[in-house]
Amino acid sequence: MPKRVLILGSTGSIGEQALDVLARSRELRVVGLSAGTNWERLAAQATAAGVGFAALREPTAAARAQAELDSIRVLSGEQGVRELIAACEPDLVLNAIVGTAGLGPTIATLSAGIDLALANKESLVVGGDLVTILAEATGARILPVDSEHSALFQLLAGHEPGAVDKLVLTASGGPFRGRSDLSDVTPAEALAHPTWDMGGRITVDSATLMNKGLEVIEAHHLFGVPYSRIDVVVHPQSIVHALVELADGASLAHLGTPDMRVPISFALHHPRRVDVAAPVNLAEVGELNFEAPDFETFRCLGLAREAGATGGSAPCVLNAADEVAVEAFLGGRIPFTAIPVVIAEALGTIEPQPFAHFEEVYECDARARALAAELVERQRAAA
Ligand code: MG
Repeated sequence: MPKRVLILGSTGSIGEQALDVLARSRELRVVGLSAGTNWERLAAQATAAGVGFAALREPTAAARAQAELDSIRVLSGEQGVRELIAACEPDLVLNAIVGTAGLGPTIATLSAGIDLALANKESLVVGGDLVTILAEATGARILPVDSEHSALFQLLAGHEPGAVDKLVLTASGGPFRGRSDLSDVTPAEALAHPTWDMGGRITVDSATLMNKGLEVIEAHHLFGVPYSRIDVVVHPQSIVHALVELADGASLAHLGTPDMRVPISFALHHPRRVDVAAPVNLAEVGELNFEAPDFETFRCLGLAREAGATGGSAPCVLNAADEVAVEAFLGGRIPFTAIPVVIAEALGTIEPQPFAHFEEVYECDARARALAAELVERQRAAA
């Protein structure tokens, strides 16, 4: 029996690559798809994959898709994903939704005791302990899709916890590695990532190193390791995806060509492995370089580490302020260098508090977004 897979966020970069992996696999079957507003692409995907159910967050888009598709039931609204999970009866849900909108579907999946292949960083950054506690309570597993975390997940297998000293995440360094003045950076320059092909916000987050900061927080929650034992090293070739340092002085590294289909396939097929890509040819790559991150120029990395160590609501504020600031930068409203300024001010304004319920997470997210929007306006007025 093939494993039944539901893809949430199927029209995004990860969703499209997951469909490519699924189309070639005899062990997996797509049983449902969801997207936000792109009903035309979703309709085409649903027809090609032959699914019975789909969902669109935006009701008008859902109505249009339903009019187009006779044999498929299209669900809609915030409740649509929850209904989709119930209707499809998946063995595994891939959450590839972009942004904080991914938290609700993560909660719904884990609450139902269904294993989750997680590409949505925000679920762990924003939901934090509440998400991992929920997974423990229902017995659902979280399988990381992010390339660095997939690598760590593989590297950590088979070691007793006391044997691992440190987790090391690699960062490509983004398009501005080596520069110390980023004041005149344009959105087009920030969107040109040297090694990975990804979506809009995550590409800008890679240029500021915020993406790596969010990944440090993600690693903390996924593997239960304190921040003092999670390091970042810049590695421009993106061939080594992560390392673990062991107690005896040995380090293990995970290598591969930068191709998101590999970690996607690993999470979907787990515990099996199938042929997805050719192994890296080190003789062809030639050199692998490593350097310490520049925390002064790329302030977002330090801000994320601090917010993670503070815990509670701080990573939620960090993430919300970053989303608002990146959007303002892409819209030409604030300069690149104002992104960390907005985030730091938001973190300094909202008093950190522990989260006891998911309701508090959503309240904090809304409050931080409203504050960040004000801070963006203040940046504009000052410019
Ligand atoms: Mg990553």
